[in-house]
Amino acid sequence: AAVAAGTGSAVRYRPALGSAAERRARLRDDLPGAWDRGELSVLFQPIVSLGEQRVTGVEALLRWQHPELGEVPPTEFVPIAERAGVIGELQRWALETAAAAVLPLPHSGTPVRLGVNISASHVAARTLVRDVAAVLQSTGLAPERLVLEVTEATLMSEGEHVAVDMEALRLMGVHVALDDFGTGRSSLAHLTRLSIDVLKLDHAFVLRVDRDPKARALCESVVAIAAALGLDVVAEGVETPAQLGALRAAGCGFAQGFLLARPMRAQDLVDVLDVGAGQLWPGLVGSR
Ligand code: C2E
Ligand code: MG
Ligand code: MG
Ligand code: MG
Repeated sequence: AAVAAGTGSAVRYRPALGSAAERRARLRDDLPGAWDRGELSVLFQPIVSLGEQRVTGVEALLRWQHPELGEVPPTEFVPIAERAGVIGELQRWALETAAAAVLPLPHSGTPVRLGVNISASHVAARTLVRDVAAVLQSTGLAPERLVLEVTEATLMSEGEHVAVDMEALRLMGVHVALDDFGTGRSSLAHLTRLSIDVLKLDHAFVLRVDRDPKARALCESVVAIAAALGLDVVAEGVETPAQLGALRAAGCGFAQGFLLARPMRAQDLVDVLDVGAGQLWPGLVGSR
């Protein structure tokens, strides 16, 4: 805590060296322009269709390599970007960089979809529709290939314009995924009201699916409701063959997780894409 030196003059609060507050302040100072200095990169984690046994999509995940502090996770710097008012700039860079990276990837039929996480404050700032349109225009990415990952909290917040903006994006042909479903204030009733195409079952939800009959029942119910509403279900954070087996048994269509593939550089995606005829996703062989 800051302790006044007793001189009567205002003493500026100085966080202790190495404290969490000092780190936050440092990251906040250094983040603006980090993308122009080449410190940010985008990794891509494959999303596998369990039915087709091939990679049908990737999720773009931001990384920041700070010159002195090393790798800073997005869970730490995205909230800082929101508070510092640079989330729009950061997000535009991420969208553009990710789109440009997936465009040259080879494909045998349907090109992979690109999932990009969108933060609540970007939606609240009302520049999302314009920003997405600009990126589609500048990169030439087909709108059908873009999947905006938003959370329920984002979609339920800020009143009318969020629904209007999301609908405008869908009219452009862009897809919308509900991220981290099963956490926070999830409600199945929301699903009928929200304009979404994909449901991403949160890691926490997937974690017990192989051992807990209740978790499995819940998963089966979500899959059934999603099917009735015409939504795809992606299970997030699949780490074990037992989880994958339970998810397949529950009828889940898509999976993402360390078991299948870690987030990787765009050029490494070539190795996991189905460019040859009938090639099975190696992680799924024998997992039935
Ligand atoms: P998310 O959208 O739910 O992304 C999934 C996170 O789970 C990623 O963490 C991913 O690396 C991790 N993950 C994937 N498979 C597994 C697994 O099998 N086990 C476990 N334990 N974790 C797994 P990451 O990359 O650290 O990203 C964390 C969060 O940061 C993301 O959660 C997303 O909310 C946010 N984020 C990442 N990139 C962006 C971005 O470009 N913009 C915004 N607004 N947020 C981003
Ligand atoms: Mg996501
Ligand atoms: Mg998620
Ligand atoms: Mg998650």
